[in-house]
Amino acid sequence: MRWLGDRESENVEDRRGAGGGFPVGITGGVGAIVVLVIGLFLGIDPSTLMAVLNGYAPDTPADSRQVDQPGYGSSRPPDTRAGGEDHMRQFVSVVLADTEDVWRQAFGDMGRNYRDPKLVLYSNVVQSPCGMASSATGPFYCPNDQKVYLDTAFFDDMKRRMHASGEFAQAYVIAHEIGHHVQNELGILQKANAARERSDQRTSNAISVRVELQADCFAGVWANHADRTKHILEQGDVEAAMNAAAAVGDDRLQRQARGTVVPDAFTHGSSAQRVGWFKRGIESGNLKSCDTFAAAQP
Ligand SMILES: [Zn+2]
Repeated sequence: MRWLGDRESENVEDRRGAGGGFPVGITGGVGAIVVLVIGLFLGIDPSTLMAVLNGYAPDTPADSRQVDQPGYGSSRPPDTRAGGEDHMRQFVSVVLADTEDVWRQAFGDMGRNYRDPKLVLYSNVVQSPCGMASSATGPFYCPNDQKVYLDTAFFDDMKRRMHASGEFAQAYVIAHEIGHHVQNELGILQKANAARERSDQRTSNAISVRVELQADCFAGVWANHADRTKHILEQGDVEAAMNAAAAVGDDRLQRQARGTVVPDAFTHGSSAQRVGWFKRGIESGNLKSCDTFAAAQP
């Protein structure tokens, strides 16, 4: 993936090494741990737990010192972190900027205004209005504060455990989470969560799958436009991203975790479904091709 020298976003909040202990607030902590345990058990990202979280009062930061000011970058003193982490922050900032450019344009074309989300980089554990999360949770989007939370150790995990590597595969993961923000901006998340609340577990999971597959498709739409305007794609990149999409499919993750596949518990979609919808997005470059809710079988 070609990205060095491209514009970096101002919307990255770097909270790595900002303490990261368990929060003091008992209520927030316990609620968050329950959510976290559910998330780990089902192998889903917390953004899909919004039905569970509805009515769950947002935590106030237990320690405001943990919260960095947005707009990390120009005004900060020189970073003393290891070069690898700097490189990672730069990469994440460029990908985020790419998504801003693409979605601002796409929303503009629809006569809408795109509000840039923030992306929080953290290490180990992080406190969000959607509850506490740890590296084990994987990246997630919290609609309550419109922020994507990313522990960069997840990328190492992708490489090691899921055998999905390559920068574009990492960009796909970021673009998927941004896809949830796009859904939030378009009111899709809200509708889906309302429908899930009225449904039994099985139907609720099926709605989750459609939400997740749509975020994959939106990630594909982003890649299509980013490549057309900035020529980011190199040989093998799309295959690497599809490999990543397949590696984080529910069937694959469940098989790794329990040795069997339980379709009713799927909330992200199977590997084949995830690859299929990402492909649809990247080939069409059109949001309209991502209506996973209209498809009889997504
Ligand atoms: Zn997701």
